[in-house]
Amino acid sequence: MAEANMPVVEVKDLKKHFPVRKGLLRRTVGHVFAVDGISFTIGVGETLGLVGESGCGKTTAGRAVLRLIEPTSGSVKVGGTEITGLSKAEMRPYRAQMQIIFQDPFSSLNPRMTAGEIVGEPLLVHGVASRREREAQVAALFERVGLRPAQMTNYPHQFSGGQRQRIGIARALALGPRLIVGDEPVSALDVSIQAQVINLLQDLQRERRLSYLFISHNLAVVEHISHHIAVMYLGRIVEYADTRSIFTRPQHPYTEALLSAVPVPDPAIRRQKRILQGDVPSPVRPPPGCHFHTRCPYAVARCKVEAPPLREIAPGHQVSCHLR
Ligand code: SF4
Repeated sequence: MAEANMPVVEVKDLKKHFPVRKGLLRRTVGHVFAVDGISFTIGVGETLGLVGESGCGKTTAGRAVLRLIEPTSGSVKVGGTEITGLSKAEMRPYRAQMQIIFQDPFSSLNPRMTAGEIVGEPLLVHGVASRREREAQVAALFERVGLRPAQMTNYPHQFSGGQRQRIGIARALALGPRLIVGDEPVSALDVSIQAQVINLLQDLQRERRLSYLFISHNLAVVEHISHHIAVMYLGRIVEYADTRSIFTRPQHPYTEALLSAVPVPDPAIRRQKRILQGDVPSPVRPPPGCHFHTRCPYAVARCKVEAPPLREIAPGHQVSCHLR
């Protein structure tokens, strides 16, 4: 029972700093602080939406959790096991448990492989099944994601964008994962297709008790699929809460600004428009103190020198802002 309640993934103080090298000797002259100490957990059958503008570090965070890039420091536990120090061979069973769906299904699918070969590749690599079993499993996966098994012999360019994303989902499902990281998985699709793919992901979650880390620059996209939302700014989580609290009682000025761009279906409800000025500053030299102070309409002198810690302001609701 204890194992059933154990989070699928527990991330603690995860950092990924990329060295900036210069000159003939490629000396390190600085670091890109892409992910700078983030912590979260995702339970069985739950979705955490990780949101922020492009350049906030969310894609790097997703890849570091999966060890597709090596974290600089911090802890990632999968089913209670620390995976950051594991060798390639030791990682193998965990690789099967953690999969990724990419933003652009076209560039993530090998154009020289048939859709059936793409979906069956993880089974082949992990030696899971004989050829005949593999074909049967791939056909079942095709049906499950809304494709016809007859399409297994087609190549990626013969599918629409939405269908290609379904191929990506089928491939991610092949090894029976527990966690799927979706890196902007619907951002490249038309709005009507986005809804279909999100519905499919939700059905699969219910059916297979899947956990998702759903990365998006758009709060509106993560609203329907996420149980919790973490808002990221320049490598740090600035607000974390359940989805309802984020949408009804946002506490961080950055979350407020992101939310003000989300259309409200009820005309009786109005959100104050807060246009974010300028771009996300460079993560090579993030602003001192609160990283958001250069764009925050409420910034006071203290914000420029002192970084606000992420602290709990209500049960399960964490914010990093001096004014909260
Ligand atoms: Fe704005 Fe200051 Fe809060 Fe940062 S700490 S979000 S700059 S008010």
